[in-house]
Amino acid sequence: MSGIGTSSARPDRSAIFPIEALGTLFDALRGRGYRLIGPTLRDGAIVYDDIASVDELPRGWSDEQSGGRYRLIRRGDDAVFGYAVGPHSWKRFLHPPRQRLWRAKRHGGEVQVTAEAVPEERLALIGIRACDLKAIAIQDRVLTGGSYLDPYYKARRERIFVVAVNCSVAGGTCFCASMQSGPKVTETFDLALTELCDDGMHAFVAEAATDEGRVVLAGLPHRPATGDEVDAAAAVVARTAASMGREMPSEGVRELLLRNLEHPRWDEVAARCLTCGNCTMVCPTCFCTTVEDASDVTGVESSRSQRWDSCFTMDFSYIHGGSVRASPQSRYRQWMTHKLATWFDQFGSSGCVGCGRCITWCPVGIDITEEVAAIRASEAH
Ligand code: SF4
Ligand code: SF4
Repeated sequence: MSGIGTSSARPDRSAIFPIEALGTLFDALRGRGYRLIGPTLRDGAIVYDDIASVDELPRGWSDEQSGGRYRLIRRGDDAVFGYAVGPHSWKRFLHPPRQRLWRAKRHGGEVQVTAEAVPEERLALIGIRACDLKAIAIQDRVLTGGSYLDPYYKARRERIFVVAVNCSVAGGTCFCASMQSGPKVTETFDLALTELCDDGMHAFVAEAATDEGRVVLAGLPHRPATGDEVDAAAAVVARTAASMGREMPSEGVRELLLRNLEHPRWDEVAARCLTCGNCTMVCPTCFCTTVEDASDVTGVESSRSQRWDSCFTMDFSYIHGGSVRASPQSRYRQWMTHKLATWFDQFGSSGCVGCGRCITWCPVGIDITEEVAAIRASEAH
């Protein structure tokens, strides 16, 4: 199981198994007590949800993405993982939008408070990409790496089985290659697959990186991959890396942004930004939450829940008497400088993995790479 802290496990020699064995893999995981979560078509997008069989995967589908635009398109083959990341990230399963913390019930003059039990469910995450594995590693540091750990995240995270997939296409808004977070899976997986769907062949080159991954792989009909098949898998990843839709400068972004906190570009982006918070909801690393209390109409039962929040709301920075970040300009600057600059100071890495979701799902197509490029270009003049 790819629990927290197993990221340095080294994969074994590659194996290969045919598409027909994917159902056997699903059965094996279900037999080991896992609930299967994977990609499926819903509401005009490829999202992550419970999957019962291989038939529910988006076979033959891909996507077109650009700033503020996402469209499903048909592929010319039967690839089941031939798409880039969609609107969902895996945080909705590990760090869900709403998590009840406790319930209270009045019994006459006494109140009984019951803390919400930590989940015991085991999740198999099917089709997870390199950028999203980096994002989970970042959320591990945020939610389990300090003095205040989130017991619900930790419990779910320790029980996952990761079936990762090396990307065979880059989305129009992807820039993971320039963030060194993809498209090849390098860490925190049990099994990593590369789909080969060409020349009459439809198979997966597979690597196992954990004991449980090795056991599961051993139970599938497979054979050692040949040198040509390993080369073909490497070529898939190389082609994807070479076709990224965007890029982010690899160095100096933190310093660039912190030098330019009063740059006029923040006003320009604020004039377009709707402060809707979409970018924070789709981002796989954004982790902020608020708490809400609710009670029934009789006042006998009440509960407290944690739910996702966004630095784009006025309430987020409300401190008695007013919001610290009242303007859209200050809220966009907070989000972007946290992601790309102060995250390094707080957690020792970038808060961005280059998945491109915030660009695709921004209703007005605001592009984090374009904003960095604009500020950088202004310094060159
Ligand atoms: S900031 Fe945007 S590109 Fe970076 S990880 Fe979040 S959603 Fe993906
Ligand atoms: S940058 Fe785009 S997605 Fe984010 S709050 Fe502004 S309008 Fe919404």
